[in-house]
Amino acid sequence: MAKSKITVIGSINMDLVTSTSRIPKVGETLLGDSFHTIPGGKGANQAVAAARLGAEVTMIGAVGDDSFGETVVNNLTSHGINTEDIIRIKDCSTGIASITVSDRDNSIIVVPGANDHITLDIIEQNEDKIKNSDILLLQLEIPLESVIRAVQLAKKHNTLTILNPAPIRKLPMELLEMVDYLTPNEHEQTLLFGSTGGTEKEVEMLKEKCIVTKGSKGVMLYHNGDCLEIPSIQVEAVDTTGAGDSFNGALAFSLCAGTKIEDGCRFANVVGAISVTKLGAQTGMPSIKEVDEFLQ
Ligand code: ADP
Repeated sequence: MAKSKITVIGSINMDLVTSTSRIPKVGETLLGDSFHTIPGGKGANQAVAAARLGAEVTMIGAVGDDSFGETVVNNLTSHGINTEDIIRIKDCSTGIASITVSDRDNSIIVVPGANDHITLDIIEQNEDKIKNSDILLLQLEIPLESVIRAVQLAKKHNTLTILNPAPIRKLPMELLEMVDYLTPNEHEQTLLFGSTGGTEKEVEMLKEKCIVTKGSKGVMLYHNGDCLEIPSIQVEAVDTTGAGDSFNGALAFSLCAGTKIEDGCRFANVVGAISVTKLGAQTGMPSIKEVDEFLQ
């Protein structure tokens, strides 16, 4: 069987994680406990999730001309992802998330850097890649106009689209109508469906194509006017970072093979559950062999 082709257009970041006994006050300098650099970004994480399951994945994105850029691209390549269309922006930093974690709290600063330079031109230069893919997978960590243009091109060429609307923001009706599947988590769902979050028309339409991930409560699939609740797989959760990214990568992988949406959600529900049993976002993402072993 030919490999499933997935194109991910999205963010590529380096997470800078500092562990400390407490979050410093304004103006205070603290000695931290440890520091790690971990490749991340929703786009990159979802590309890795699909690649680990065996899909043929192309990543379209941008990094800066700094050393983080080289490291995050090498990381994607090491997972077998096609990185030839990732561009390097001159005099720009790679996207970073500076994360400070203590036992009680955390604080995060995200600097999008090169991710903000994914322009309409870059999307249009990649029209052939979109055309030749089974699935186009997107998130909202790059400019919204570029997401919209990518979905327009996918529609033109009958490529199935999955939009993970994270981080959530108000989305234009044109985009909601065009995408094939939307995958908000519960929090994002309330902003899309809530009393102030959508017009009647938006809510009605979203209920046609929305897959709501609900953490340890599983998944709610709205499809063609029906609503199907898929309970979660019972696991011992160690680290839930990247569960949504694992879910989205797995859903894309599954739908490539022409799997029905219910079955795709069930498969992604299993992959999401396995991912939370291990530490880290990308490091927790299972291979297809691990999924098969888990299901035996
Ligand atoms: P996000 O990371 O975007 O907030 P969720 O927390 O909703 O996403 O998790 C995505 C999916 O991962 C869930 O719908 C479920 O399938 C799986 N998952 C997440 N947390 C757990 C858990 N504690 N137990 C089992 N499955 C989980």
